[in-house]
Amino acid sequence: MKRINVIRSRKGTTLVLYVIMFSVIAACASIVIDIGVVAYKKADTVKATDAAALASAQSLFYGDENPVVVATEYLEKNGVDPDDAQINILDDGKGISIKTKIEVSYLFAKLLGFDSGEIKANATAKVMGVTSVFKDIRPFAIEDQEFEFGKLYTLKEGGGSGSNGNYGCLALGGSGACNYRFNILNGYDGELKVGDYVETEPGNMSNPTKSSINELVNDCDHCPECTYSSFDPECSRIITVVIVDSLDVNGRSSVQIRGFASFLVKAVTGQGNKCIVEGYFVKNITQGELSEGQKDYGLTGVRLTE
Ligand SMILES: [Zn+2]
Repeated sequence: MKRINVIRSRKGTTLVLYVIMFSVIAACASIVIDIGVVAYKKADTVKATDAAALASAQSLFYGDENPVVVATEYLEKNGVDPDDAQINILDDGKGISIKTKIEVSYLFAKLLGFDSGEIKANATAKVMGVTSVFKDIRPFAIEDQEFEFGKLYTLKEGGGSGSNGNYGCLALGGSGACNYRFNILNGYDGELKVGDYVETEPGNMSNPTKSSINELVNDCDHCPECTYSSFDPECSRIITVVIVDSLDVNGRSSVQIRGFASFLVKAVTGQGNKCIVEGYFVKNITQGELSEGQKDYGLTGVRLTE
C-alpha cells in the first residue's frame, strides 16, 4: 500500500509540473505573438511616416499643394490614422516634421495584465540645395544671379554676343562639336560638384546646337504641352545646366561651379551663327549630393534627416 501511494504522489507532481510548464510556454508564446504584431505595425508606421514627410516636403518645395494635406493623404493611404500624427512645417519653411504615435491593443498579453503597447515614429524631411550631380548635365553654363521662376534665360549666346569666343558652352568629358552635341542630346554622365572647375567650349557651333536642341524640343510629345509651371520631370525639354561664377573668360578657360539649375528649353531662335538657346527657369527635384548650406538655385533634393 505504501508503494502505491508513492506512485500516485509522483504522478500528481508530474501533472502539476506539466501544468506549470504549459502555462509558462503559453505565456511566452502570447508575449512573442504580441511583440511580433507590434514590431510589424511599427515597421509599417515608420515607412508611412517617412513617405508622408518626403512627399509633403516635396509639395512644400513646389508650392502647388498644401503640404499638410499631402502628408495626411499619404498617411491615410498607408494605413495610419492622421489623427495619430502631428504634422508641422519647420520654422524656416524648408521642411516637414511628422510625429506619429499609435496605441496597439495586445491580443494575448492581456491575460498577463498587459493591455496595449505604444508605437512612435518621427520623420523630418528637408529640402536642400544640390551640391553634386552625376548624370544628365547639359553642356551649358549660366552666370550666378538671382533667378526668377518662369522667366526666360539665355543659355547660349548668338554670334556677336558672348565673351572672347565663349557663348555659354562647356566642354564636359571631352571637347569639340561632336562631344558637345552628344552632351546636349544625352547629357554628360560624369559627376560635377560645387567648387569644381569645368572648361568652356569656345566657338559658336550653330549647326550642332540647332539640330540637337530642336530635337529635344520636338521629342516632347506631352499633352498638354510642357510649360515652366507644369511639366513631366522626365521631359526631353527639361535640362540641367551648370551655374558658374563668371563666363567673362578668354577662349578655352576654366570656370568654377557654384550650383546647378533646371530649365525648360525652347526651340533655337536666330539664323546662322546668331543661333540662341533659351530656357525657362523651373523648379525641379533631382538625385545627387545635398547640403543645407547650398544656395537654392531651384534644383534641389529632399532628404530625411530624422
Ligand atoms: Zn514635355
